[in-house]
Amino acid sequence: MSATMSHNLALTEAVRTAVSSVHDPEYPGVSIAELGLIEAIRLEGSTAYVDLIPTYGGCPALDFIATDVRNAVTFVQGVTKAEVRWLRAPIWSQDRVAPHVIQFLEREFTVTLRRSDGSLVCPVCGSGTVRDTSPMGPSRCRSLAYCDDCRNPIEVMR
Ligand SMILES: [Zn+2]
Repeated sequence: MSATMSHNLALTEAVRTAVSSVHDPEYPGVSIAELGLIEAIRLEGSTAYVDLIPTYGGCPALDFIATDVRNAVTFVQGVTKAEVRWLRAPIWSQDRVAPHVIQFLEREFTVTLRRSDGSLVCPVCGSGTVRDTSPMGPSRCRSLAYCDDCRNPIEVMR
């Protein structure tokens, strides 16, 4: 491997570390890496290209995340510019999130994630009889559902 190639690899890893340190403004304590938003990172010269996957296209937090990513990457020595792209595909799903992160979201924010088959499980009692009640949650990035078993309102991340 040439010196340039290994330098590029090291720099790409440094960019990945910087991007991974960015937290989702909706969920303090949870990084965008843990949420599975990072799809690809590549370097061309001193420009870093960061491809991200949105949880929900209409979520205003996406703008904040992109700004935070650009800021974090410019602290990496050897990188002068970061281009952030929000991809339309693949579609984000709960499968991209580690189980311990899902448990943290449920415990800290009483927020649950829709399974890839579209179903919901109550984060309070574990029941599967959760129904969607309103697309309008406390923020545009969350919708509301209701658990018929424990009669708790549930927030659903989207
Ligand atoms: Zn319940």
